[in-house]
Amino acid sequence: MAKDLYEVLGVSKKASQEEIKKAHRKLVRQYHPDRNPDDKSAEDRFKEIQAAYDVLGDEEKRKEYDSGGGMFGGFGQGAPQGNPFGQGAPSGFGDIFSTIFNRSGGEGPGPERGRDLETDTRISFDDAMNGTQLTVTIPKSERCPTCSGSGAEPGTSPEACPRCGGRGVEAQGQGFFSISQPCPQCQGTGQIIPSPCHTCGGSGLTHQTKRYKVNIPAGVKDGTRIRVAGKGEAGVRGAPSGDLFVTIQVSPSPVFKRLDDGNLEVEVPISVAEAMRGGTVEVPTLSGTKRIRVGAGTQNGAIQRLRGEGPPNANGKGRGDIRYRLNVVIPRELTDDQRRAVDQLAEAMNGDDPRADLLRRAGSKGTAKDG
Ligand SMILES: [Zn+2]
Ligand SMILES: [Zn+2]
Repeated sequence: MAKDLYEVLGVSKKASQEEIKKAHRKLVRQYHPDRNPDDKSAEDRFKEIQAAYDVLGDEEKRKEYDSGGGMFGGFGQGAPQGNPFGQGAPSGFGDIFSTIFNRSGGEGPGPERGRDLETDTRISFDDAMNGTQLTVTIPKSERCPTCSGSGAEPGTSPEACPRCGGRGVEAQGQGFFSISQPCPQCQGTGQIIPSPCHTCGGSGLTHQTKRYKVNIPAGVKDGTRIRVAGKGEAGVRGAPSGDLFVTIQVSPSPVFKRLDDGNLEVEVPISVAEAMRGGTVEVPTLSGTKRIRVGAGTQNGAIQRLRGEGPPNANGKGRGDIRYRLNVVIPRELTDDQRRAVDQLAEAMNGDDPRADLLRRAGSKGTAKDG
């Protein structure tokens, strides 16, 4: 026959919770393994005391035990003889130190701001230039609407965790060697919820997919991180929500290259004739096309710019430029007509040796003469 739990604690069946608590404390002091090193019987007694207190120290469990049914029905009968607190006992060794170092003033951890959420999204180059509004879809946890995040069924409220006294941590060991660790009963929150909310099961959070509209400012650069305040995870116990950060990836344009200085660059091929004679050429802009002047004698790689036609500046004031890099295209093949024309050109330019200056600088000693 298993020992009566009241006997273990040396209290009457009519003892108040306070009396049970006091009796438990006194016994713990007496039989604590640290005070009785290498005393197996003290250790066993200590385990017995803790197991008894785990039940009687908790009003609900005590009622259950008194009625002789429920989860403690098999407690006495089922346990092996002489070892009433063996496998079948309601508490493991981890419970042994519960409530020993019940510190005063424990209020549990404070509210916890919700986590920030991160997401990224890709937009077209045009949208980046003009600005746009995006809808981002993110899975997130929200404050449960039924219990407003408390986790308790409406009409009930969370209670201080009986195991850690609301502290959220419990100490293992004593003196120099005590270690604090999160309370396993309340997972460090310091609270237990006697009647969990039926919607969220006591977590205070519901998981859902949320859609948010995010305004993307015109001129946004690739890799820009946009903060949407308060749209992160819900805070715990009434704390503010985190923020949502949306990282914008801008698809490259087949035409415009974004420069670090806030301008755009476009490579514009021009013909040899355009480079030599000059003229106006049609070039792409963000809103269509425009014509720009190419001066006579334009060199390969020369830059022409259209001011204020580039992306909006980050400060919202004005726009950058578009720089047009003019690339002279040398034909790889010539028609007969073109060859004749080039021959004529060469004839007309006879005497203009483009290397004269180079050779002069190299010095005239021993330069090869043809013929
Ligand atoms: Zn606790
Ligand atoms: Zn809820």
